[in-house]
Amino acid sequence: MFVEVIIPLALPKNYTWAVPLHLQNSVQPGIRVEVVLGKNKRYAGIIKKILPAKPEAFQPKDILNVLDTEPLLYPQQLQLWEWIAQYYMCSEGEVMQAAIPSNLKLSSESILIWNEERELDFSDLGDAEYIVAEALELKKELRLNEVQQLLDSSNVYPVIKKLIDKGVCHVWEELKDKYKEKIETYITLNPVYHNEDKLADLLNNWSKAPKQMELLLSYLHLIKTEGEVTQPQLLTKSNASAAQLKGLSDKGILVIEKRARDRIRTLPKSIQIDFILSAAQEKALLEIRNGFLEKPVCLLHGVTASGKTEVYTKLIEEYILQGKQVLYMLPEIALTSQIIRRLQKHFGGYIAIYHSKFNPNERVEIWNKVKNGETKVVLGARSSLFLPFKELGLIIADEEHDASYKQQEPAPRYHARDAAIYYGALFKANILLGSATPSIESYYNCAQHKYSLVRLAERFGQVELPQIEIIDLKKVPSKEKGKIALTPALITAIETSLQQKKQVILFQNRRGYSPYLICNTCGWIPQCQHCDVTLTYHKAKNKLSCHYCGTAYPVINTCAACGSHDFTQKNFGTEKIEEMVAEQFPDAKIARMDYDSVKGKNDHDALIKLFEQQRVDILVGTQMVVKGLDFEHVNLVGIVDADGILNFTDFRVNERAFQLMEQVSGRSGRKDGKGTVLIQVSNIHHPVLQFVKEHDFKQLFAFELSNRKEFDYPPFTRLIQVTFKHKEKHIAEEAANIMMQGLKLNFASQSNGPAQPVVDRVRNQYLWEILIKLPKDAKRIHLCKKEIQQQTIIIQSNKRYRGVTILPDVDPI
Ligand code: ADP
Ligand code: ZN
Ligand code: ZN
Repeated sequence: MFVEVIIPLALPKNYTWAVPLHLQNSVQPGIRVEVVLGKNKRYAGIIKKILPAKPEAFQPKDILNVLDTEPLLYPQQLQLWEWIAQYYMCSEGEVMQAAIPSNLKLSSESILIWNEERELDFSDLGDAEYIVAEALELKKELRLNEVQQLLDSSNVYPVIKKLIDKGVCHVWEELKDKYKEKIETYITLNPVYHNEDKLADLLNNWSKAPKQMELLLSYLHLIKTEGEVTQPQLLTKSNASAAQLKGLSDKGILVIEKRARDRIRTLPKSIQIDFILSAAQEKALLEIRNGFLEKPVCLLHGVTASGKTEVYTKLIEEYILQGKQVLYMLPEIALTSQIIRRLQKHFGGYIAIYHSKFNPNERVEIWNKVKNGETKVVLGARSSLFLPFKELGLIIADEEHDASYKQQEPAPRYHARDAAIYYGALFKANILLGSATPSIESYYNCAQHKYSLVRLAERFGQVELPQIEIIDLKKVPSKEKGKIALTPALITAIETSLQQKKQVILFQNRRGYSPYLICNTCGWIPQCQHCDVTLTYHKAKNKLSCHYCGTAYPVINTCAACGSHDFTQKNFGTEKIEEMVAEQFPDAKIARMDYDSVKGKNDHDALIKLFEQQRVDILVGTQMVVKGLDFEHVNLVGIVDADGILNFTDFRVNERAFQLMEQVSGRSGRKDGKGTVLIQVSNIHHPVLQFVKEHDFKQLFAFELSNRKEFDYPPFTRLIQVTFKHKEKHIAEEAANIMMQGLKLNFASQSNGPAQPVVDRVRNQYLWEILIKLPKDAKRIHLCKKEIQQQTIIIQSNKRYRGVTILPDVDPI
């Protein structure tokens, strides 16, 4: 018996192993098996299929062990992997890497990490497990070969698997998972006392231990105000001791448990929908349903604050009631926390949240609950697409236009929205794309009648769309240009908002203090030593930093070219804007939301909560403030530098600029009264500004479509970009030229390049790019991918180009 096995590596194809007789009854697709590759590298791979015959060319090695008794996933997931690998030009092993939680992956490189949450009770462990657990508890981490030595056996994977299943350890992925969760001791009430009569009974008949009663009362108070209670919080508040708390826990009144800070609580499985759709929402819902009768994909084009989430919620309810599962995707982890609070209210224990920042155990837990159908709704970012759904009925891709749906690094460079459409079809599921600013591609698909289109053109509660005003920066006297980031008009508007006790968002697309420094004498600009980019000054850290590779440099006081000490800071980053606003409005509470100020997931949540509770008046931020967040009291949004948005050199620049400005505008005036948006810009005649001003997506679409047609860009073509990287510029260029020669045979008129991108050196690697614009013809596209793969093999088999990295990117963003 022979099996094709996927192992988590970038191999050109899957390999075959033989199954020894005694294991033949336990193998089937989706089961993990332990295999050896090369001399002694071991992997837990996944069986893709049982092969009908022995491969002709070679004698496969035996698999060593079978690790699972039932498949880890369903055939649909394996099909999705295969499709992604083929479409996005990578290996199924790379897809596997991205798809399954680290605790389900094992290889010689794996490191086992002691699980700090684990109790020190080892009574449930077998002998071999016990030995390893003890060592782990002592050393906190073990490499696989150390486990082998400990057990004096090479047969360790089954033991490790049991240890992971029993929560003794995690598998740590050196490169990826730097996330360390915060463990906290939480106190909860024994569910028995959720019954009010029982609780009253308990309190009324309390006889001894008054201190414990006080503790319990403190708990009840805290849980009301805080929603969650940690041990330190409770002890401080009640002035009690840990022993007294333990007393209550021994009596079975309070429960003490350790868990990660952001782990979501288990809630009862029930549906509670406590709102009524507006007439417009109701109509949209009906149209979506009707759309699904004819086409599996529907685009909901709903203006900002039209209440798309409520429409989704109603739709989700219908699928749950039919016993189906729903995947609700958002482009970014950051967005999940606000939405999950809204959804948990409605779907309680039916819903789970899943993304790469969860701890490995938790991810496996959700994996299993999705697999057995217990979890009905998953809210997640890109990677949640890979969960082993059993009866998927609906996929929602909210903010479908968002570029974060496309994975950049590493492979698979897949677009989760597009992959979702393929994946959904495997289940005959429906797919709902939602956005206030749809992507040109999706809207085009509607125009071509591939997707149905539903419009939700009014905001909920008849709130009007914000009024957009353009402020001409050319009118600012030139001697003031370098000094002021906020025009008098914007300052006045902020003042007014603050007087009305409203909130303000200021959007600036650059983080840091000043985007670059320039020598006043000779014009020299400090650059990164590893990348071809200028360095950004960060004032709080007092460092210059490269936003491409992250290297930080001490602040430069002397010009490297002329020795002068006279520098000017150019342009404004969020940090500087925050400072300027603070000077202008000393009494306002100001916060900043960007990559530097919100590092952890919790920081982001906390800041959003502060802003929601109006404990911040002015929020200065980058892209992070743009996306999908719902704040009630914002009535002014300022776009500080729209020129910076309109001047990109990318074929999507107009689409992106519109999305960005329309979305950030959408944060204004969501609940009560009309909001205002002020856009500061020099290039006031840019057509996109007009479209934003009128909130007119259709005009943008028409304008953009004719541009795309003229220059052969998507949606009229498919793009494949191939990037070549090497530390020597000419080596990368040569390799790119070889590929270009190969492509010229069949794709001469479609291939462009090689050319250097705007930033042509990153992390000491020089970059060259080839861009291929293909007609939308599946055969031609397939042929082209084949050609690229073949040329890649040819180039890489030449010693001279061994160090060249070749990265194909299909549908680059
Ligand atoms: P969108 O996602 O379309 O921008 P949201 O779903 O965030 O809009 O809705 C905007 C606001 O209006 C939210 O605060 C939401 O709770 C509220 N809202 C929308 N529809 C309803 C409804 N049917 N009943 C009550 N509140 C609603
Ligand atoms: Zn100089
Ligand atoms: Zn750099």
